[in-house]
Amino acid sequence: MKQFTDQSTATRTEKAKRVLRSLANGHDYRYFHGDGYPRHNDLQQDAAATLEVLEQLTKPANADVTVSRECPECGSAETEWHCAQTTNSGVVDGRLRMHDVSTVFYLGCNHCSETIRTVSGDDVAQWMNTAANA
Ligand SMILES: [Zn+2]
Repeated sequence: MKQFTDQSTATRTEKAKRVLRSLANGHDYRYFHGDGYPRHNDLQQDAAATLEVLEQLTKPANADVTVSRECPECGSAETEWHCAQTTNSGVVDGRLRMHDVSTVFYLGCNHCSETIRTVSGDDVAQWMNTAANA
């Protein structure tokens, strides 16, 4: 992970905003020497760190459901997404309460039954929000 030249305790997102604000402001000479020449190393370091923050912010957590749907086990393209309820509460079936149960989506192979990906319902919702706002 690229570090910002800003060593304060501000969040990485805040530091990224500061970098862009500074560059957008014609009267902010943080990245320039007294002679007007830019401090290339600082500029490059902060630009790289800012880019990382932006990439992280725009990446749907774990729910990129658009990845290759080919089965890595048998190579079959016959794969399908399914939805199921799951629990890791340790409570036996029949005694479960609503909060013991969560939704997962999984990509399964119809040919060899391999489970290729498992994605939580929350991650799918986040992916849909990101896709809708893109
Ligand atoms: Zn397969």
